[in-house]
Amino acid sequence: MKSAVKVTITGAAGNIGYALVFRIASGAMFGPDQPVILKLLEIPQSMSSVKGVGMELEDCAFPLLHDVVMTDNPAIGFRDTDYAILIGAKPRGKGMERKDLITENAKIFSVQGKAINDHASRDVKVLVVGNPANTNALIAASNAPDLDKRQFTAMTRLDHNRAIGQLANKTNSLVADIKRVTVWGNHSSTQFPHIDNCEIAGKPVYDLVSQDWAIDHFIPRVQRRGAEIIEARGLSSAASAADAIVDHMHDWALGTPDGDWVSMAIPSDGSYGIEEGLVYSYPVTCKDGSYEIVQGLELDEFSVSRLKATQQELLEERAIIADLLGG
Ligand code: NDP
Repeated sequence: MKSAVKVTITGAAGNIGYALVFRIASGAMFGPDQPVILKLLEIPQSMSSVKGVGMELEDCAFPLLHDVVMTDNPAIGFRDTDYAILIGAKPRGKGMERKDLITENAKIFSVQGKAINDHASRDVKVLVVGNPANTNALIAASNAPDLDKRQFTAMTRLDHNRAIGQLANKTNSLVADIKRVTVWGNHSSTQFPHIDNCEIAGKPVYDLVSQDWAIDHFIPRVQRRGAEIIEARGLSSAASAADAIVDHMHDWALGTPDGDWVSMAIPSDGSYGIEEGLVYSYPVTCKDGSYEIVQGLELDEFSVSRLKATQQELLEERAIIADLLGG
């Protein structure tokens, strides 16, 4: 049997955490032959709640789950961890400005970046989910000078999956037949869901939908899907966010299928004219635990303007927390 991989989840007692941990323990993230040790990191006031999650995990008797560690100490939570999933974040309070939210969360993610730097496996793979996810990933990476910045990513996979879901619905196609969708930029309403390169069952997408539909309906719907769910459910999406976390880590660790790509927010290397270092969502392929940006995609004027607009928002977020960007 393979030796167990350690997976740390912050905010494990929250809504997304509760939808996630059972799926990891059942083998959905790393496969049916890969044992896991879950390390659930919470804040002191949520320790009682996370202990309840731990009891439920025990009651599931998952064969792949070799141990569960519950702690409010980041040094213990991140020690030797192979995968760190950072969900815990401060929600926007009443009357709170966006700037305040960014600053408050920046403090949390700089502390976590340092703790990962000091305690995690040298090959750790980090996924930031807590919002503003891209900028929180930038802060965490900047505070982990001993690790490669490419080990820090943020989640746009839910947006990617939402885009596929909308296309499947509109064209009455199977999800499995939809390839080469991209979400560019920030995990926010400025993100750019882009289908110019998409194929559905081997046909170019624009044989099945019009470009006007893409611009007037598809893009805004994907951008605002989170708000649509809150309106319908009275709560933010949690199970679909957890599912996207499973997909992101699964593909990063085990690879993407031939002929397709996924969207991941990663430190920009300057590709497609995006400022180097910003954590920006790109189309990527993954193999052997590492990712590469898909190069050479043609972008029309409209697309370039959307790529720049979402970059601009990330530059503004970065300016707000510039003093927290460590070495
Ligand atoms: P959730 O589990 O619902 O959400 C957690 C974070 O994920 C939020 O920042 C949320 O952003 C973000 N998120 C990203 N994508 C999505 C998506 N598609 N749908 C919904 N949320 C998304 O929050 P809870 O309040 O239920 O739980 C948070 C947990 O984190 C609590 O258990 C708390 O104790 C813990 N916590 C830990 C901290 C730490 O580790 N230092 C600090 C603060 C809290 P958004 O707010 O924009 O929806």
